[in-house]
Amino acid sequence: MLVIISGVSGAGKDTIKKELIKRMENVESLPSYTSRPMRTGDIEGVTYHFVSKEKFEEMIKDDEFYEYDIHHNNYYGTSKKLLNSKIQSGKIIVKDIEVNGTENLINLLKNDVKLVTIFLKVPKEELRERLHNREDKLSEEEIELRLNRLEYEESKINIYDYVIKNDNLERTLKIIMDIINI
Ligand code: 5GP
Repeated sequence: MLVIISGVSGAGKDTIKKELIKRMENVESLPSYTSRPMRTGDIEGVTYHFVSKEKFEEMIKDDEFYEYDIHHNNYYGTSKKLLNSKIQSGKIIVKDIEVNGTENLINLLKNDVKLVTIFLKVPKEELRERLHNREDKLSEEEIELRLNRLEYEESKINIYDYVIKNDNLERTLKIIMDIINI
């Protein structure tokens, strides 16, 4: 099963993903490849596989991704090889991807993989506050970029199986664990 969690950066995807992995057996993450620089807290092979822009473009040419996207001026992509091997070993994969990537994955995988798609909603003002309070300090420009993205992401909400207002971590986790356990 592949569980896709979307929502603008700051919506709480990372925390939710980590808690699901901690609390549920058989749930694992699937790190994407990215060309963005590492931030505080990033671990190679855990949060992402970090590669150069040139290497990423080579991998695109070699058809190594199910989907990829340019986001905040950096590449992000889902490796075919990594996804296939985890699915085959019966793992429940939790992955956070933005809306374009989700749309692509739904179209590519819906006939072969059990997919659950979840969108985490968060009010704009609350998001602004969360972005300001992040451990990995973002610049004002980076914060504005992410806030501007909110409207676009929310315009695509209808492609998701579930939309959850993430204003209470425990409540959101319970809902998602119930969905996965069905
Ligand atoms: P961040 O740089 O803050 O970790 O992530 C930026 C955005 O890239 C997030 O919205 C995240 O969901 C998205 N992202 C991460 N991995 C992938 C991926 O494999 N494909 C796509 N399309 N987006 C991704």
